[in-house]
Amino acid sequence: MEQLGADVWVHRIDVEGFPTISALVLTPARAFVVDTLMRPQDMSPVLELLAERAGERRLLVVNTHHHWDHVYGNAAFPGVDIVAQRACPRLILAQGSTADESVPLQPPEGVPLPGITFGDRLTYSDEPETVHLIHTPGHSEDSLVVFLAGARLLLAGDTLEWPLPNFAQRDGKDVWVRTLRQLKQLPVDVIVPSHGPAMGKALIDANERYITEVYEVVAAAKRAGAGRHDLVMPASAFLAADVVVDEVYARAHAGNLAWAWDEV
Ligand SMILES: [Zn+2]
Repeated sequence: MEQLGADVWVHRIDVEGFPTISALVLTPARAFVVDTLMRPQDMSPVLELLAERAGERRLLVVNTHHHWDHVYGNAAFPGVDIVAQRACPRLILAQGSTADESVPLQPPEGVPLPGITFGDRLTYSDEPETVHLIHTPGHSEDSLVVFLAGARLLLAGDTLEWPLPNFAQRDGKDVWVRTLRQLKQLPVDVIVPSHGPAMGKALIDANERYITEVYEVVAAAKRAGAGRHDLVMPASAFLAADVVVDEVYARAHAGNLAWAWDEV
């Protein structure tokens, strides 16, 4: 596992070409595991570090949102409280019966559902750290971020992503832009998206620019008569000049264009 701060570690795996993390945060009284990847086995390094470091701390699992690459390893923590935004359990269940072929089958161990949920914000005060779970819709209806006020660090889930975000909440653009503007107010130095490297706050502006410009450009093309599959607009047009987009994110970008076309 990679140590990001005095009490923050991440375990990174490859999920179909997307680098994807689970994080461990230790506060004086609690141990937070943030996201559980795609199979219970993926969580072995996190369980080992917990055994080494967590001691008597109370363990909590946080699901940043319902998508399979964030919750399918939940069964690695039998009997542990799982915390999520209020819409998450329903969306995990709906995902389990989806006809969408891009969603893999659930692991044989099943996917235990979050039993502790909240609406806008849930705060764990644990001096000298304070852990805020903040509802940040846009990528999905149930998205949350984990804000460590003491460490000035944000675990962003898929609310922020590098090199570009994935559109996944139908008609979510406006609420996502509102979310990003709220995130800019948080006193953070380091942002760790679920997919991508640890970065500074510039990631928020980069994602906001990408989202707003994709919708603008796709709307203009559609008005000019472009069909859903005629949208040839490379991702580089919406990103800073030095950003490299690999094949996986080029495909994600193409999916975003079609997703936006359906809404504008
Ligand atoms: Zn997601």
